[in-house]
Parts: sequence; C-alpha cells; structure tokens
Amino acid sequence: MEDKNESLEDRLYDKSYVCPVCDKKFKAREIKKGKTVFVEMDLGLRAHFKPLMPDYYYVIMCDNCGYAAVSKTFDKTMVRQVKAIKENVNKEYKPKKYPPVYDANIAIDRYKIALYFAHIKDGSASERAYIAQKLAFIYGDINDEKQELEYNKHAYNWYNDAYIEEKFPIMDMEENQFLYNLAYLAYKIGNKDEAKKTLSKVIVRKDLSVTLKEKVEDFIEILKAEDKA
Ligand SMILES: [Zn+2]
Repeated sequence: MEDKNESLEDRLYDKSYVCPVCDKKFKAREIKKGKTVFVEMDLGLRAHFKPLMPDYYYVIMCDNCGYAAVSKTFDKTMVRQVKAIKENVNKEYKPKKYPPVYDANIAIDRYKIALYFAHIKDGSASERAYIAQKLAFIYGDINDEKQELEYNKHAYNWYNDAYIEEKFPIMDMEENQFLYNLAYLAYKIGNKDEAKKTLSKVIVRKDLSVTLKEKVEDFIEILKAEDKA
C-alpha cells in the first residue's frame, strides 16, 4: 500500500552499477517498486506518476568518471564508444554531485550531460532523439516553452535520421509507436499537416495495437477540434 506520508527520499534507493567506461562500481538513484503512482499517459505517450516522475531518474551517471547515459543504453555502451569517450571527454570534466531527490532542473542537467556523452561517443541518432525529447518534456514541466520547442525540434530531426539509419525496435519502439511519436513531434514543432499525414498512415495499419489505436484516434480528434477553433 502506498503511504502518502512517506517522504520522497524514502521512496528512492541506490542501485549498484558497474561503469562501462572506468569499470568502477557506483550507485545511482532509483525509485523503489510501488512507491510512485501512475496518473496518466499524455499525448506524447509519456507516463505521468505521483509523487515522483520516473523519467527524472533515467540518467545513470558514474560518480567516479562522470560518464552518463540513459538507462536504456547505459549497459549497451560499446567498446568503440568507450574509446571515443576516453579520447574526447573534456579534461576539465568532473562528475557532479546532486541532492538525493531530483527536481526538474536537476533532471534537465543530468539529461544534458547524457546528451553530451551521446555526442562524444557518436551515439545513435535515436539515443540523442530520446534524450532530447525527455529534455523537451521536462522543460514543459517547468513551462519553459522556448527550450521545450528547441528540444522537440532536435528530437524530431534525430528521430527522422534514425528512421532512415536504424532498424526497429528503435529505443524500444516498434514502427507504429515510432510513427505516432514522429507525428506528435511534428505537431509540437508546429507542423500539423505532417502530423495529420503520419497519423492517417498509422491508423490504417493492420498490426496497430488497441491501445495505440485509441491514442491515434484521440490525437486525430484533437487536431480536428483545433482546426475548427
Ligand atoms: Zn565511470
């Protein structure tokens, strides 16, 4: 049972990792099972929870060497990427210390560091897109519309590159969900016509799941309502 009075800090624990870059053990914050409650899935298929947002804790950062990546890719860091990191990391770079509970600004800081490493290790376009979209979501949480738009544009461009360069599943997304997300990003950066076109392609696909079909239908309704307004 969820205890509403439990402090945020008590809902978190330190999970152990081994860093793929420096090979040392370190710990990263993680939400304990059942200690945050699902609220809703938004238009961007981002799951909202209370009182802690899981995606504020998705960046795993080594406190020895400072290497950071999102949990989806941290353990998949390749040998050539480790080499690139060792060769290209800014020599002044020092791992940061954070308080035990992360707010939006801390989460943003950590995703930006993960994005820095995604660049220097020549990470996939989809990895960069995923991080950029997380940054857009979290900037949205603090109503910074300018940065939200900026990172949605990056996410849109990098996912388009990934669509050409990579094979599905891409960052755990099958093609239908991926296309839905591209439509969402097109919409967020003001390209409604493209969003509609992409959604009309997704809605007729035979392998579309019931849950995603509902999301696509809702999205199409939202776009129609906006046209009328
Ligand atoms: Zn390390």
